[in-house]
Amino acid sequence: MSLMTGDEYRESLNDGREVYVDGEKVENVAEHLVFKPIVDVKARMYDMNHEARYADTCTYTLPDGDTICRAFKLPKEKEDLAAIRRYVETVLDDIGGVVYRVGDETIGELWSLYDAQDKLNEIDPAYAENIRRHVERVPKLDLFHVSANTDPKGDRSKPPEEQDPDMLLHVVDENDNGIVVRGAKYETAAAYAHQAFVKPTIANWTDESMAPYACGFICEMNAPGLKHLCRSSLGKGANPTDYPMSTRFDEIDTLLIFDNVLIPWENVLFHRSIESAQYIRATLHRYSAFNYVLRVLRRADLLLGTALLNVEQTGLTKIPAVKEKLAQLIGYRETINAHLTAAVAEAQESPSGLMMPNQSLLYTGRVYALTNFPAMAHLTRELVGGQLAVTPDAKTVADPRIKGYIDKYYSVGGWSSEDRTKLLYFARDLLNSSYAGHKITFELFAQSPPFAQNLAIYNNFDPEPAREMVRKAANLSPKVLKG
Ligand SMILES: Cc1cc2nc3c(=O)[nH]c(=O)nc-3n(C[C@H](O)[C@H](O)[C@H](O)COP(=O)(O)OP(=O)(O)OC[C@H]3O[C@@H](n4cnc5c(N)ncnc54)[C@H](O)[C@@H]3O)c2cc1C
Repeated sequence: MSLMTGDEYRESLNDGREVYVDGEKVENVAEHLVFKPIVDVKARMYDMNHEARYADTCTYTLPDGDTICRAFKLPKEKEDLAAIRRYVETVLDDIGGVVYRVGDETIGELWSLYDAQDKLNEIDPAYAENIRRHVERVPKLDLFHVSANTDPKGDRSKPPEEQDPDMLLHVVDENDNGIVVRGAKYETAAAYAHQAFVKPTIANWTDESMAPYACGFICEMNAPGLKHLCRSSLGKGANPTDYPMSTRFDEIDTLLIFDNVLIPWENVLFHRSIESAQYIRATLHRYSAFNYVLRVLRRADLLLGTALLNVEQTGLTKIPAVKEKLAQLIGYRETINAHLTAAVAEAQESPSGLMMPNQSLLYTGRVYALTNFPAMAHLTRELVGGQLAVTPDAKTVADPRIKGYIDKYYSVGGWSSEDRTKLLYFARDLLNSSYAGHKITFELFAQSPPFAQNLAIYNNFDPEPAREMVRKAANLSPKVLKG
């Protein structure tokens, strides 16, 4: 049995890792106020895998009899992708919110590298062996595995050797035990994960002088010399009734400092390989974008549900203009759903024989979902109305001296004032809080910036049928036909 329990996960984080937040060195991540809410959510996910009612959706039995988390099964057929979708939906249903970096979406980045085994074999067969072992190790040990790509970069117009070379993470030494790396990476969830797949960021991966920077490896989150510098919590100290999401689902981001960290050879996935850096940048989100867009779909549902409940309660649904706005939210939700559904229906075989979601449809869906989210959030804000910004806090409305006024002004139709204020607090945390703003920025960047996401569409679409259509329709000369 591979599956960890929630308590085992909590205990596993007490491993000597060096974590700082709010000017303090954290003794035990699982018990610290900044991390406890999100660690509890992740622990709940571990516990779900042990509950009989979730056995079908959340777990999978390997041929050797070992049970693993369903999200970690290598996708070999369309049904595996459909099962990943059911897994993500089941987890988000159970926790009652949306979390992005909880392991299932980041494991896909290892699968992208798994697809490159043959190429890596040509460079050094040991790397392909390491990749295979890590792809098996994550499910077998039920590890929380995250992703580190983005360096501070410094002056983007200069290559690293023309500035402080540590602006991009690089190899500073190589010995019998492994490689020694120095630099920094941004990484959501690192402080409460077990390990990260560290790899090159977006840069000029055609220049041979970049070889010391072209490395990919697995780093344990308690490695000596690794320091987690975390941003403050967006929910700490807030009343959970006022801020139901900030107080539970804030996924803490980290600036990870690699201060001469030794990476043992068995954890090195590629090294001094410009070709591998190029490959992983081009294919990084081949699988993980699916899990990512599933989260955005859930966020679209939260927008729609919030808008619907509010206008139904306030009697606005009879107005055709309000129905039109709701239709836009439905259209947004259903278009994301259509991309995800089609990406599975039209799934493609990967270079190593895995089943990957249809790449063109998936990347198009990702750009559609992320580009339109701010506009749909704004529409929801408009439909909910100004009360989401001006309603008194939960403690005040519960005060016996005040409650009568709140009952008078906030009871609408069959809704009690308590339910109405709860919906407004939820809407505020979804749309207006610091957490809401942070999530929109996360969605903009966390799977690479918009220009790179658009490039993924361009690079994964087959343009030939469109060219051919115009060649024929415009009766172009044979010269053009030959290209
Ligand atoms: C909340 C949050 C969580 C994150 N979590 C993670 C994580 O878990 N792991 C991880 O690896 N990273 C993470 N990131 C980092 C994220 O991947 C980067 O922010 C993103 O890749 C953009 O890099 P940058 O911020 O350095 O922007 P820059 O490289 O400085 O780019 C800024 C802007 O400049 C323009 N630009 C830059 N270069 C080009 C170009 N070549 N062509 C066209 N326009 C260009 C674009 O408009 C771009 O958006 C996170 C970021 C945020 C905000």
